[in-house]
Amino acid sequence: MYVDVIVDILSGETDRIFEYYYEGDDIRAGERVIVPFGRTQKDGFVIRVKEKADYEGGQIRRVTARLDAIPALTKECLQLAERISAEFFVSKAAALRLFLPTEMRRGTVREQFVKYAQYAAEDFDKAMLSLKKNAAKQRAALTYIREAGRARLNELNERYGSGAVTALREKGFIAVSEEKTNRRPYTALDREEKSVELTAEQRAAVENIEKTEKRVTLLHGVTGSGKTEVYLTLIRKVLDQGKTAILLVPEISLTPQMVRNLRGRFADACAILHSGLTPGERFDEWWRLRSGEARIAVGARSAVFAPLENVGLIVVDEEHDGSYQSESAPRYNTLTVAQYRARYNGAKVVIGSATPSIESYRLAKEGVYNLAEMTKRINQRALPEVEIVDMRREVRRGNNTVFSGALKAELKEVLDKGQQAILFLNQRGYSKSVICTSCGYVPKCEACDVSLTYHLEENALKCHYCNAKYKMIRKCPECGSELLRYGGIGTQRVVNELQKLFPSASILRMDRDTTQSKEGHLKILGEFSKKKADILVGTQMIAKGHDFPSVTLVGILDGDMSLHFADYRSGERTFQLLTQVAGRSGRAGEAGKVILQTYQPENQVLRLAVQYNYKEFYEREIALRRATGFPPFTEIIRVLVFGEDDAKTREVLRAVYEPLHAEYEKQTEGFRYFGSMKAPIKRLNNKFRYQVLMRTSIRNFRYRVMEICANVKVRGVYVNVEVNPNNLT
Ligand code: ADP
Ligand code: ZN
Ligand code: ZN
Repeated sequence: MYVDVIVDILSGETDRIFEYYYEGDDIRAGERVIVPFGRTQKDGFVIRVKEKADYEGGQIRRVTARLDAIPALTKECLQLAERISAEFFVSKAAALRLFLPTEMRRGTVREQFVKYAQYAAEDFDKAMLSLKKNAAKQRAALTYIREAGRARLNELNERYGSGAVTALREKGFIAVSEEKTNRRPYTALDREEKSVELTAEQRAAVENIEKTEKRVTLLHGVTGSGKTEVYLTLIRKVLDQGKTAILLVPEISLTPQMVRNLRGRFADACAILHSGLTPGERFDEWWRLRSGEARIAVGARSAVFAPLENVGLIVVDEEHDGSYQSESAPRYNTLTVAQYRARYNGAKVVIGSATPSIESYRLAKEGVYNLAEMTKRINQRALPEVEIVDMRREVRRGNNTVFSGALKAELKEVLDKGQQAILFLNQRGYSKSVICTSCGYVPKCEACDVSLTYHLEENALKCHYCNAKYKMIRKCPECGSELLRYGGIGTQRVVNELQKLFPSASILRMDRDTTQSKEGHLKILGEFSKKKADILVGTQMIAKGHDFPSVTLVGILDGDMSLHFADYRSGERTFQLLTQVAGRSGRAGEAGKVILQTYQPENQVLRLAVQYNYKEFYEREIALRRATGFPPFTEIIRVLVFGEDDAKTREVLRAVYEPLHAEYEKQTEGFRYFGSMKAPIKRLNNKFRYQVLMRTSIRNFRYRVMEICANVKVRGVYVNVEVNPNNLT
């Protein structure tokens, strides 16, 4: 037989299909093989098996070895990889890699076997008699194993010494066997076995989703309306039909609650896939899914590639979350991939959120998606009351700390009552916007209405969507004040000030610095939920999906910072953040309170978020997007060109820019913006970075861009095509 193989090398130049010969007819598509490539041997994926070779000239080389007993990749994976490659400008090898855990490709992880000792003596009394008088340990070990029947060999060695155990083995009183074991993640998490009766709203949502003919349903349910229970009910039904399910959450390590629920409900039928697992755990969980032993895959975005067959349902929880867009190579959009898989399997997709993304809600309103709504919280619990505090007044009063008088008073009350509080602040690495702390003024781009970003080396303000440059301001043009602030406040500073204010309070901090280790999040959250601390201070990480019953106060320290990120979605992100954060407060019996500190108390986005008025927010936002020409009315396409050699990189930029510019000249009116420039971060990891940035309303223009970029190949220079990226850095 002849096979088409994609060689597993990540270089644009070799992203081609190679033919090999295989002696025998039992080789299948989806298997991994080792093949000769140049003067070396490489791993590859068989994507097609055929009787005749397409290639006629010269010698066809032979497959060196086959790697899988059952093909690692299913037919669906092969097809999906093809589409992903075309849709997201990803090489075929990179697209195929998405379906396999890294450790499997490198062959660094193997199945794990454990040795067991088995009682094997024919007659216990005779065996005991045959042992020497002074062999007390052997006697004890034999007695133990007779009772236990079997035990881990390691455990037996530890208890009675390996000398005694070996002696018993040699006499034939103990037999040793090897068995494969699965390494399981999160074994420390208990199962939560509760059965609940669905509320009327939940039941209606389930029925609505079962009935619809549409592929995708948007489940729009306020925080605490019980969306999880709807997902679990739907998953149960799908399993009962003999199908499988995928449940995606933004960050599995942040939602141990979800794992507890699933284990309680489905026990070992669910497998967890995400990057925080050890290589061994990931390997075993992956094979449990591939072999059909586990039928529910739970995880962050990469779990959308779970090796399941006959998928009946894909749930995307918190669908608005930015993490569903992969921003590093290979770039892909999880929602799009989920829809491909659903179409292939005839499955349904349910995307859920209290604050849907503008794009998704628009599709639901236009009838492309089915819409299911849940407007009530479980047990009619009230949404917490939100108080807006004007920080300009605090500044005028001479309060230069990060805490307003109102927040200090509330914190004191919480501590006195022995309850818990969460303090939340926004922080996003490098982007620095400027705000006047006297009047709340923020400089914006005149053309784009997006906040400007301060660039230190040029001492200038710049717009990341059109490259316009503005002079840095020393004084506020609105009120003349010189009290300007750059960027956000740090978590460390908050903790220090807090400790001074409340010396006896115990405080936990959660941000990128404190959660480097593998289960760092879990540890901090675990301590907090066990009430080992009074106050948790953190960044947007803590906004996601936790359920802390004794939290009665949430303080949002810089409620408007996210409004001023240099991003056309800053309003949307702010609304989402505030709603999610506020949803953390008062989830159990106690009424919760939220304090929102801001320099712009009159801001409409904040007002609507405080009222939990998503629909009005949506109407306002979509009108703004239409007027300013941002997605979903246009697409932002960025071609990022980067490489270590500056001259070569510029050459590639030119090679891409010229044909693109010709396209632009042909239909200028289809563009809100077209230009080429250095990227906002000009150098990263020793690579020079340039970009061609476009904002266009021409449908499917991105495919034209990809076609143009695919034609330019220079060793050592990389080209990315990004569509509506989460950030332009
Ligand atoms: P959401 O994801 O919509 O914010 P959750 O799914 O976290 O809401 O549910 C909020 C709380 O309500 C959880 O503690 C959950 O266990 C509980 N809950 C959900 N459905 C029911 C029900 N039908 N009866 C009782 N409690 C429920
Ligand atoms: Zn001002
Ligand atoms: Zn601009």
